[in-house]
Amino acid sequence: MPRLTNDFSWSISRDVTFQQCPRRYYYHYYGSWGGWEMDTDEKTRQVYILKQLCTRQMWQGQVVHECIQRTMTNLKNGVPPLLPEEIIAKTRERMRAAFRSSREGVYHRKPKTLALFEHEYKVELSDDEWKQSWQHVERCLDNFYSSAYYAKLRDLPRQDFIQIEEFDSFRLDGVKVHAVLDLAYRESGVNHIVDWKTGKSASKDNKLQLTCYAMYAQEKWGVELGSIRITEYNLYNDRMDEDGVSSGDIDAVKSYMRGSVDDMRRLLTDVEGNRAEEDDFKGTTSGRECKRCNFQRICATKVCDKNQE
Ligand code: SF4
Repeated sequence: MPRLTNDFSWSISRDVTFQQCPRRYYYHYYGSWGGWEMDTDEKTRQVYILKQLCTRQMWQGQVVHECIQRTMTNLKNGVPPLLPEEIIAKTRERMRAAFRSSREGVYHRKPKTLALFEHEYKVELSDDEWKQSWQHVERCLDNFYSSAYYAKLRDLPRQDFIQIEEFDSFRLDGVKVHAVLDLAYRESGVNHIVDWKTGKSASKDNKLQLTCYAMYAQEKWGVELGSIRITEYNLYNDRMDEDGVSSGDIDAVKSYMRGSVDDMRRLLTDVEGNRAEEDDFKGTTSGRECKRCNFQRICATKVCDKNQE
C-alpha cells in the first residue's frame, strides 16, 4: 500500500485550532503525522497519542453522535432499529467499558481507544461528576428517541436518506475542504441537512459551518441553494432551529476560507510539500488555553499557571 501523504486541507476545526494556538495547530496537523507507524520516533508517537485526547464533554457528544448514526444507518439499510431502552442500555455498557479502558491508560498502547483528557492529566473529579456524563448522554438520547422528529425519520422511505456522518470533502480553489454531515435526507423536494448539538448551552453562531454544509451539498448533489434547509437539533435542550443559506452567506464564507488558508500556508516552510517547522508556530499567550490543551505535557512554549490570571 502506498504511504499516506500529509496533504493540506481545510476544515472548520482546523481553522479553530489555528486561531486558538498556532503551536497546537502544528502539533495536531504536522507534529503528530506518522505517529501511528511502528518505527516512528518517541516524540512523534507521544504527540500522536496526546492528539487523541478528548474531554468528557467531547466524549459525551461523540457517544450521542455514534448512537444516532447507528440508528440512522439501520433505517437507511432497512434494518429495524433496537427499541430506545435497548439502545440506551447498550450505550451505557459501552461507556462504562470505554471509561475503564481510558482510566487504565490502554490508549498509550492503543491510541484509537478512548483517551480522556481528565485521565491523562489527572484532573480530580468526583464520582458524581463522572455520573453526570452518563446522565447528559441519557438525556440527549431520551429526548431524541421520544421525539416526533425521530418518529418522522423512522417513517422516511429509506431511499430518501442521502448521507449519514460520511467523511467527505469538496474543493475551493483546489483546496480540499472537509465536511461531515450528521444526517442528510430528501423530503418533498427539500434537501434537509441536520446537525446534532449536545451541549447544555444554546449554540454559538454557527453560520460558517452551516454555510460549508450548503456549499458541499451544492457541489456534491448538484442542488439549488433554495432547496437546502439546515436544522440544528440541540438534543440536550430538545430544541430545533431551522435555517437556510443565501448566496451572500456563501460569498462571505468563501472569502473567510481564503483568508484562513492564506494565514495557515504563510507559516509553512514548503507550501507545495505541505511541510512545517515547529519553531515557526508560536504558542498562545493565554494560560487558559494551555490549561485545557492536549499538548501541555510536551509543549516548551506553554504559558505557566502562575501567569494565567
Ligand atoms: S500548551 Fe499552550 S502554547 Fe503549547 S500548544 Fe498548547 S495551547 Fe499552545
